[in-house]
Amino acid sequence: MHLFHVPPSASGWALVLHGGAGGRVEELSLEESGSYAEGLTAAYLAGAAVLAAGGSALDAVCATVERLEDDPLFNAGRGAALTAEGTAELDACVMTGDGRAGAIAACRHARNPVHAARKVMEETPAVLLIAPSEERLTGWDLATVKPAYFLTPARQQQLRNVQDRVLEGSRHGTVGAVAIDVQGRLAAATSTGGMVNQSEGRVGDTPIVGAGTYARDGVGAISCTGEGEAFLQGVVAADVAARVRYLGVPMDAAIEATVAAELEPRSAMGGLIAVGADSSIVVGHNSPAMFAAYHDGDRLVTHT
Ligand code: ASP
Repeated sequence: MHLFHVPPSASGWALVLHGGAGGRVEELSLEESGSYAEGLTAAYLAGAAVLAAGGSALDAVCATVERLEDDPLFNAGRGAALTAEGTAELDACVMTGDGRAGAIAACRHARNPVHAARKVMEETPAVLLIAPSEERLTGWDLATVKPAYFLTPARQQQLRNVQDRVLEGSRHGTVGAVAIDVQGRLAAATSTGGMVNQSEGRVGDTPIVGAGTYARDGVGAISCTGEGEAFLQGVVAADVAARVRYLGVPMDAAIEATVAAELEPRSAMGGLIAVGADSSIVVGHNSPAMFAAYHDGDRLVTHT
C-alpha cells in the first residue's frame, strides 16, 4: 500500500487529482511519463486557478476533470478506453459536500461527461441518467460530439492488444479530482471510459455515488480508480467517509483500512484520492502506480 499525506493547507483551499491507478509504470518511456506529468500539471493548474480566485470546489473539480477528459492520454472523454465492440461509453459523477450528486453512464455524445453529470445534478430531479441523448445534452447547452470523437488510434491498438492477449493487464487512466474551497465546501468528480474490453453496457464504480465518488461536508471528498467491481461491492468511497465520520480516524488511516477490508480480499487493485474537511490531502493506492497531482505546501507534486 502506498500512502501520501499532505497536512492542511495555509490558504484554506486544497485540490488533488488523479489520472488512474495501474501497473507497469516501468513500461512508460521517459517521454511518455513527461507527457502524463504535463497533462496532470495543466489539469491541476486549471482547478487551482478557480480555487485561488475564491471559486467553488465544484467549479474547481469540474475544470480539472474537463482538462483531463480533453487530454487523449487519459481514460476519460477523448482517448477513453474502449469496449469489446470498439465503442466508447463514458461514465462520470459529481458530488458536493452538501449531499447533492449527479451522474451519467454509457454516455456517447457529451464532449465532457463531467459537465453532463453536473447538469443531471443541477437541472433534473434524477441522480443518475443512462445514455443521455444528443438532444438532451444540447438542451443543457453542452458541447456534443459524434461517438467517433472519443476514439484514438492508441486506444484502438490497446483494445487489439488486450483482445489478442498481447497485453494482459493495462494501465487504467480514469480521472478524478477532489477539492475544498476557502468557504470549506467540498466536492468530488470522477470520469472514465471504464475498463478496456468491457462489454457494452457494463457500468463500473465511477458514476455510482458512494462507490467511486463521494463528498460530505465536515468529513471529506473522495474519488476512486481501479477495478470497478470491487469498488462497487465494497462501496469504497462511502466506506472511507464512514470510517472518518463514525470512528473519527484520520483520512489516511481510513483509506488504508478500507483498502485492506474491501479491495485486498477481492484481489483488486486501485487507488483513491481524498481531501479532508481540514484541507489535508491523501493519495493512496495498492496498485504499483497511480497518476496524481497536488501541492505539498512547497511545490506542485506529480506522480507518474
Ligand atoms: N473504476 C473504473 C471502472 O471500473 C476504471 C478505472 O478506474 O480505471 O469503470
